[in-house]
Amino acid sequence: MDLDLLKTLTQTPSVPGREDRIREVIHQQLRSLGAFDEISVDAMGSLIAVRKPRPSTATVNAKPTRVLLIAHMDQIGFLVRHIDDQGYLRVNPAGGFDARNLFARSVRVCTATGDLPGVMNASGKPIHLASEADRKKVPEVTEFFVDCGLSADEAKSRIRIGDMVVLDGPCQTVGHSVVSQCLDNRIGCWALIRAIENLTHHQCEIHAVWSVQEEVGMRGAFTAAYGVDPDIGVSCDTTLCCRTPGVPDEDRISVSGDGVCLHVMDGSMLSDMGLVEDFERIAKARSIKCQRAILPRGGQDGAAVQRSRRGVRTICLACPVKYIHTVTEMSHLDDLHSYHTLLTAWLESLP
Ligand SMILES: [Zn+2]
Repeated sequence: MDLDLLKTLTQTPSVPGREDRIREVIHQQLRSLGAFDEISVDAMGSLIAVRKPRPSTATVNAKPTRVLLIAHMDQIGFLVRHIDDQGYLRVNPAGGFDARNLFARSVRVCTATGDLPGVMNASGKPIHLASEADRKKVPEVTEFFVDCGLSADEAKSRIRIGDMVVLDGPCQTVGHSVVSQCLDNRIGCWALIRAIENLTHHQCEIHAVWSVQEEVGMRGAFTAAYGVDPDIGVSCDTTLCCRTPGVPDEDRISVSGDGVCLHVMDGSMLSDMGLVEDFERIAKARSIKCQRAILPRGGQDGAAVQRSRRGVRTICLACPVKYIHTVTEMSHLDDLHSYHTLLTAWLESLP
């Protein structure tokens, strides 16, 4: 499987409200594909590409189904909120981090004049000096700071309040999986591009959206869904895969390698069961792996799409990801494959 595009997407930092870089990479990719009739950017920064019907015969459906495919292109990260008199940065999280995953991380501070490498650590004493009680305590996310190895004057002249900070990590193939930071949701962004790239004939009208600010509450999805006014919505995201040591089997959510998940329910929405069954039927007919999943907590852009205007029939497709919201998110290559092939097959089936 060619993963060059996915790798590029994971190595392009873009936290909520700072999606310019990833949008440019995706825009460039769409232009080179030539698969869309119109490409635009809405006021919030979401990228919207329209592909008109491509029927196989001369008979054109007078009222094609308007489909909204939406993948959020932001990733969890931080914004610089303070630079202290020793040059250390305090950061504000943009998205939900687990503080246990933030110790001793390489980070990238993205400034107007270029990216700076740095390291993130928690305030407090190293193990040699810490008391027994100190060692057991997990600090709050806000207790972590960034050290760019610069003097206070250098830091203050090069870095500004509001500059984004992302955890830095490679994207690599490990066994039958891909491992990187921000597979949530570069996988969804990637699958959406691949699904449309592989489309031949279809009757429906496709509005593909790479949305902003999902990780802080689906903010870009609300406005994009209103603007598109679709008949059907498909949110393309990732979900938990907890089939790992220490987690009871009933809490696994999904199984790595068993195919893309049809999210029956999560903390933000219930998928339209007619759509779940349509996807299952097509998957079976085409021998594409897929699985049902229920995620008790957490949400995604589909919730905003579903509740826009008079309501929209919506489903969430989600790739199983182990170790989610860390720098070692892991996804099975079979699940990546089933994700975009099932989406292509479903689009071809619509009136
Ligand atoms: Zn996500």
